[in-house]
Amino acid sequence: MVRRTFVKDFNYVAPQSITEVTMLLSQNSSRVQIIAGGTDLLAQMRENRRIVDLMVDVKQIPDLNILTYDPTAGLTIGAAVSCLRIWNNPTIAKHYPGLTDAIALIGGIQIQGRGTLGGNLVNASPAADSLPDGSPIRCRRSGRRSLPFTWMWIWHPRRVSA
Ligand SMILES: Cc1cc2nc3c(=O)[nH]c(=O)nc-3n(C[C@H](O)[C@H](O)[C@H](O)COP(=O)(O)OP(=O)(O)OC[C@H]3O[C@@H](n4cnc5c(N)ncnc54)[C@H](O)[C@@H]3O)c2cc1C
Repeated sequence: MVRRTFVKDFNYVAPQSITEVTMLLSQNSSRVQIIAGGTDLLAQMRENRRIVDLMVDVKQIPDLNILTYDPTAGLTIGAAVSCLRIWNNPTIAKHYPGLTDAIALIGGIQIQGRGTLGGNLVNASPAADSLPDGSPIRCRRSGRRSLPFTWMWIWHPRRVSA
């Protein structure tokens, strides 16, 4: 027998800037949750493992859809860039073949089309396929700060992220 579960009602917003996101996060309760691709978050909500009052969709924010490579500055991957965009990028395949290989392991083509590298890292599953090394940028109204990925595993992801 299939057991039906119900997701609690929640509000949804799709801000257009990082500033709006940080305002929303600082003004709302701990049950405010960022959604990127939703491939982890929606599954957790359906299983009642995550209760959300306000869902903040970051997919439409131009700054978070940046995917650029510069030989000096290196690679910049916005938090809303899908895994598929990363996997399809010939420059990344040339300069960061390990990243292309890791992304190829994340689910199937549909999951890669929605899911993001940022979501994979913040979800911090011990089974996650992306590499836990580097420095994500943490944004706050008071400014920006970089933290090593390993902090995601030491602290609870929700305390470190966003
Ligand atoms: C069928 C299926 C197969 C899968 N197979 C694999 C697999 O083989 N390997 C693997 O590693 N994973 C797998 N996954 C898990 C998932 O697809 C990946 O972890 C994916 O990369 C998550 O990205 P997302 O954008 O969908 O995250 P979301 O679900 O949107 O978010 C995940 C978490 O990160 C937080 N978050 C997202 N973006 C930000 C941000 N910018 N700032 C702060 N917090 C943020 C969210 O609040 C949430 O807590 C699978 C999932 C499914 C449903």
